[in-house]
Amino acid sequence: MARVRLNDVTKRYEDIVAVNEMNLDIEDGEFICLVGPSGCGKSTTMETIAGLTKPSDGTVHIGDTDVTKLPPKDRGVSMVFQNIALFPHMDVYENISFGLRLRKYDKDEIDRRVDRASDIVQLEGMLDRMPNELSGGQQQRVAIARAIVREPDVFLMDEPLANLDAKLRVHMRTELQRLHKQLDTTIIYVTHDQAEAMTMSDRIAVINGGKLQQIDPPLVCYNEPANLFVAGFIGSPSMNLVRGELAANGLRTDHFDLEFAVDDLESAVGDGVTMGIRPEDIYLMKNADSVDSASEVIEARTDVLEPMGDEIFVYLSLDDTSSEMMTSEEVSTASNQLLMSVDPDTVIDADESVSVVLDRSKIHLFETASGTAITHGIADLSSRPTAVEAEPTPTEAESGGQHE
Ligand code: ADP
Repeated sequence: MARVRLNDVTKRYEDIVAVNEMNLDIEDGEFICLVGPSGCGKSTTMETIAGLTKPSDGTVHIGDTDVTKLPPKDRGVSMVFQNIALFPHMDVYENISFGLRLRKYDKDEIDRRVDRASDIVQLEGMLDRMPNELSGGQQQRVAIARAIVREPDVFLMDEPLANLDAKLRVHMRTELQRLHKQLDTTIIYVTHDQAEAMTMSDRIAVINGGKLQQIDPPLVCYNEPANLFVAGFIGSPSMNLVRGELAANGLRTDHFDLEFAVDDLESAVGDGVTMGIRPEDIYLMKNADSVDSASEVIEARTDVLEPMGDEIFVYLSLDDTSSEMMTSEEVSTASNQLLMSVDPDTVIDADESVSVVLDRSKIHLFETASGTAITHGIADLSSRPTAVEAEPTPTEAESGGQHE
């Protein structure tokens, strides 16, 4: 077990800044996922922790030791990569024990560690099999066992499930969580798959363009995204993002307005603001009884329906534009489209006029220019008249005059 800290780590490759002033403080025994789109700097961050690459600036600590200049073998880390790379001419036992044999551990100690590791990853009875006699999942378990026998302080895993089929990947996610519980070791796990990150980690570090965007438990990233990037990246399908402007009495967009008191947000009045709402927080008017604080009614037309079995995705058009040729990602950022999710037994057709409401407690507002979140939920910003909007009554005006 060990705490891992990155202080202002930057990694440059000539004119590319792969990692930009990254600060991470990963607790002892924590399961952290580094998540972000391809090329955002996840692997480079991981490689600076592993010692496979030296940061251009900044320091890396594992436990109390500054390991920035230490070679990988002296850092107490074990790595599992996407490419499993087992030795084809060695059986499972030999593959798992290879590193220990190289380091001249004695036979009893090797056997003890291989037994324990193969027990943890459920490979008992398969130690004399050759790699070509194993399924993809079993091969991945051998690779994980090979990392376990080193008894590291920190496990580093770079997309270890990427080459497995979808069903096995889901199964292995559960296994990795079990493994984490059993080993009680710090695990740092790289993935581009936000669902993988959501399901496994204690905290998610969302990275974009080499920069850390947010590091928080999965549900905090989901419910309180720090900025537009996290809002769009975490959650599938993505959050709907609609551009508008903050006025004195609420939000104006091209197709609907939301009224609320802007008291606390006054500094943003007049600025471009992007509203975010997740598909499951949009309700058909007729099902809105369960919503404590429903927004104004929005009139829309149903466009394409996607029945998923456990829910139906409904593409809503707020004007005459069809979403038929758009992906759900494009719909999520088009201001004339909304993607709504409804219960599978909802009676609904394509090309139907519908009235929908948004759950005001689930409406997010972001500054469009910087992307920074302004507020999560506007339910508490009731539609009280604001100081800006309220006209002085004749009595107030008169009494004001008398004071002068
Ligand atoms: P990710 O793991 O998120 O896909 P990487 O950390 O591999 O991203 O890469 C981040 C950026 O750094 C990318 O633009 C990539 O092209 C660049 N990069 C990574 N490794 C090297 C290298 N050895 N030489 C030059 N550029 C690199």
